[in-house]
Amino acid sequence: MAEDKLKQEDLVQIELTPPARDWMDPTVEFRKGTWNYTAVPETLDYLSLPNQGKWQPTDEEWPLPDNWQEIIHEGIKERLDKYRSFKIFMDICVRCGACADKCHFFIGSGDPKNMPVLRAELLRSIYRNDFTMAGKVLGKIAGGRKLTRAVIKEWFYYFFQCTECRRCSVFCPYGIDTAEITMIGRELLSLLGLGIEWVCTPLANCFRTGNHLGVQPHGFKDSIEFAVDELEEITGIRVNAPINKKGAEILFVAPSADYFASPHYYTLLGYLILFHEIGLDYTWSSYASEGGNFGLFHSHEMIKRLNSKIYMEAKRLGVKWILGGECGHMWRVLNQYMDTMNGPADFLEVPVSPLTGTKFENAASTKMTHISEFTADLIKHGKLNLDPKRNDHWVPTYHDSCNPARAMGLLEEPRYIIKHVSNNFHEMPENTIREQTFCCGSGAGLGTDENMEMRLRGGLPRANAVSYVKEKFDVNVLLCMCAIDKATLPPLLEYWVPDVEVAGVHELVGNALMMKGEKPRTTDLRGEPMKGFEEGTEEEAKDV
Ligand code: SF4
Ligand code: SF4
Repeated sequence: MAEDKLKQEDLVQIELTPPARDWMDPTVEFRKGTWNYTAVPETLDYLSLPNQGKWQPTDEEWPLPDNWQEIIHEGIKERLDKYRSFKIFMDICVRCGACADKCHFFIGSGDPKNMPVLRAELLRSIYRNDFTMAGKVLGKIAGGRKLTRAVIKEWFYYFFQCTECRRCSVFCPYGIDTAEITMIGRELLSLLGLGIEWVCTPLANCFRTGNHLGVQPHGFKDSIEFAVDELEEITGIRVNAPINKKGAEILFVAPSADYFASPHYYTLLGYLILFHEIGLDYTWSSYASEGGNFGLFHSHEMIKRLNSKIYMEAKRLGVKWILGGECGHMWRVLNQYMDTMNGPADFLEVPVSPLTGTKFENAASTKMTHISEFTADLIKHGKLNLDPKRNDHWVPTYHDSCNPARAMGLLEEPRYIIKHVSNNFHEMPENTIREQTFCCGSGAGLGTDENMEMRLRGGLPRANAVSYVKEKFDVNVLLCMCAIDKATLPPLLEYWVPDVEVAGVHELVGNALMMKGEKPRTTDLRGEPMKGFEEGTEEEAKDV
């Protein structure tokens, strides 16, 4: 992998001297380790998207359709008419610079075009030139730039160096959301057939097999059954994990990585323990076997198509409401777009916990509740028999995954759970958590090996905060509630802060939750010894 050759001492040397070149110069150097492979034509065909054959960003000549300028011009016009936010974001930036040093990619790279204000300006300058009177008359003097092939290359480089994390928007006095500008930028590139593999292939997989990872329905079923078998070995209890059960009360949807990747898998074990222990009437679906939504990293059209799958399946199975697992983009889509794209879901009921009677009014329209809200409510009502000592081998801190934190405001629920299932929780510095949380550096489809230098640079602020609590409190695990985080944080920490693991919140729930009739547990869900519960100890005996 690219990071093998990247030395820490090189990456922390961040060049902050502005380049001599004017920012209006669109020239970009596609340096190894800082860009992603392009989508293959077969994938784009499968998605009915335009494509220009095989090419890579390092090619001198990019294959563009003959009328590419017209396509982009029409694309901008259509989006200005359709999305009021886009028009406002193009017009109201006063270039105050409050957002400038808030992006992790700027902090880690020092590249001024990774300042959110300048990233947006790459598109805004074309808007000014072609769509405003001042730009049409004064051109460059009014901040306008001509749309050239070099600008397209520049867009590709910088709109795929933004993880759409929205940290910058928290600091903008005008509420400009640069992530939305990136989304439009990516949509425009897609109109020319320009996209990246690690966005388009998961999308195609999702349409073909139901999930981003391309796991077929029988593979999905095998994975769940494997987890049930393994849990029986750990706990002595065979849990029920129904799939495609018509008439169940609740449809449960999780990101596909939860049943296919590590450390996600231990979160899955935690869900299964929880659902068994409270006797939940629920079902998995082999059709909606993906909660995540990579459409968010591609276009509004793709967001809508993927989101609708979950609701179509809820209707087919006849459930009352939907419960969602630990995922990031799933929740941003749910909270910010579902209603106007596919909702309101009037055929479902407002979620009510069958255990506590709590009505989740915040989900009155989407009819979908986040598992951390659901579990926190169970704990608050004393419905779970928890022994936090069973997580004493962990000293956790919590990474607010960008989307659940900033897009949903899920700040207290995960912390409430963590404090009830573990004894040694420590927060990272306050300007790196909650609404101000730093991105993992690899979201929005950028978590590829070929992009490793940019990932490590972008992840530096997050790793730095982890390093702080590791040194101060001996923190040894970073908890989070996002499938992308669980995939991208381990290599990031291995590079910057070795010996800190990554885990889901419900993995620790699964460790702490004492199941009726379980055999004495001496290991956690990873098979690692639990401190104080080793065979023959007093705690092990009490735990029976
Ligand atoms: S959305 Fe995140 S990655 Fe994109 S410019 Fe803002 S802070 Fe940077
Ligand atoms: S903080 Fe807002 S108004 Fe100020 S430069 Fe950034 S995007 Fe523009």
